[in-house]
Amino acid sequence: MTDAATIRAQLPATPRELVQGCQDELIAGLMEYVSHPSVSATGEGFPAATDVAVEEVKRAGLTPSVLVGKGRPLVVGHRAGPAGAPHVLLYGHYDVQPAGPRERWDSEPFTPVLRDGRIWGRGTGDNKGQHYAHLQALRLFDEHIGALPCTVTVLLDGEEEIGSPTLADTLRAHRDLFDCDLVVWSDRSVHESGEWCVSHGVRGMLQLRIGATGPSRPLHSGNFGNVAPNPAWQLVQALASLKDPSGRVLVEGFDDGREPLSDADRAAFAALPLNLQEVLGDIGLTEMDPAFNGLSFYERLADRPTLTINGITTGDVDRTIIPDTAEAGVDIRLTAGQDPQTVFERVAAHLRAHAPEVTVTMVGGVPASRTSIDNPHTPRVARAISRVTGRDPLLIPAYGGTLPDWVFTGILGVPSIGLPLANADQANHAPNENLRVDYFLDATAICMELLLELGA
Ligand SMILES: [Zn+2]
Repeated sequence: MTDAATIRAQLPATPRELVQGCQDELIAGLMEYVSHPSVSATGEGFPAATDVAVEEVKRAGLTPSVLVGKGRPLVVGHRAGPAGAPHVLLYGHYDVQPAGPRERWDSEPFTPVLRDGRIWGRGTGDNKGQHYAHLQALRLFDEHIGALPCTVTVLLDGEEEIGSPTLADTLRAHRDLFDCDLVVWSDRSVHESGEWCVSHGVRGMLQLRIGATGPSRPLHSGNFGNVAPNPAWQLVQALASLKDPSGRVLVEGFDDGREPLSDADRAAFAALPLNLQEVLGDIGLTEMDPAFNGLSFYERLADRPTLTINGITTGDVDRTIIPDTAEAGVDIRLTAGQDPQTVFERVAAHLRAHAPEVTVTMVGGVPASRTSIDNPHTPRVARAISRVTGRDPLLIPAYGGTLPDWVFTGILGVPSIGLPLANADQANHAPNENLRVDYFLDATAICMELLLELGA
C-alpha cells in the first residue's frame, strides 16, 4: 500500500485547496447531518440517529460496525492504512443536547441554516461538525487516492451528553477493535482568543452527597429546641471539618498521588493568552481565591484538586423549625494521578473520625487523565494545524473540566490528544448553537493534514 509521503505527492492539490474546491458540498452535507435529531437524554431521533451516523461512516470509506451495550449504541468505523503506519483512533459523539426552549432560538434547532458565515443548529459545534470534518477528510482521501495515510478507527459515542455511562465497559468488551497507538478526540472549542489548540488532559471528578438525619419530622424550634438534635448543625460542622478558614483541605492524604506539572507544562501554560482582569470582571470578581495565592490561573485549574460545596438543602428560611434532614452536594475535581475511589475513602475516613453522625455516599467518579506534552505525536498534530492556518497552535497541558478521557489513557493505555475544531462562541448546550464555516473548512483540511503527518 502507498505510504503517506506518496499519498501527499499524489493528491491533486493541498488539503486546504481540496477542501475549498468542494466547500458547498461539505456545508450542505453537514447541514443534512445536523437535521437529524439525536438527543441521548430524551431519546429524540433514536434509533434512526444511529443509522444516520453509520451511513456517514460508510460514506467516508470506512467499514462500519455498531456496538450495542446497555446504553445508546456506539458507532465504529475502521479502515487499514499502509503496513507499519500508526493506528489512530478518532473520537467524537453523534448524540446532542436537547434543543431547550424553542423561543430562545433564532431558527429551528434541527433545521440548520447558513447565516453570517455560520451554520446554526443543535449539534453543529458539539459535536457533529467536528467529527464530520474528520469523516470528510477520510472521504477526500478515499475519493482522490483510494487509500489512507495511516490506519484509522473512528469511534462515535452515542451518549457523551449524558456522561458516557457505558463507554468504559464497551471499550473493555471490544478491546481488540481499539488496538491503537494514539487517540485524537475532537470536542470542546478552540481557545477563546480564536487560536487553534492541542490539549493533553482533563481533571477528573468525584461527586459526593453528605447527609444528616434528625427527628422524624420538622419540629417547632420552641417546643423542641435543646431537646432534638439539629441535622443542619451536624452537616455544617461536618463540612467545616473538611477545610480550615485559610482554604487548606484537612482530609489526610487528600493530595496524595498527584502528578505535578512538568516544566514543559508550566511553560505551555505561561504561553497561553490570558486577560485575568477580564476573566474575573466577567464573573463579577476582582481577585482570585486567596487560598491559592502564589499559583497562576492555569495552575489552579490543572495542577490542584478542588473541594467544592455545590449546594446545601435543609429546613426552611422562613419558618422557625428544627429540620428533619440536611444534605450537601460536594464535588472534588481530581488532578492527574488521583483515583476517585481512593479519594472517596479518605474523605469518608475523615468524616467517620470528625463527624460520625453524617453519612457520605459517592454519586459518581471519573478519573483524571493526562498525556505528556512531550509525547512524539503532539508536534505532528501541531504541524497539521500550522500547515493549514499558517500559525502554531497553543499547547494546553490540561483543562480544568472533566471528560471521559481516562478510558483512552487508562483502559487503552495510549496517549490521548485533544484537537478541538469548533469556534469558542459555538454556544454548545445553549440556544443558537453554531459552527463558523471558516473553522469547519479549516478543520476538514487539518484533519487531512493530521493523517498525513501521523502517517509520515
Ligand atoms: Zn456537549
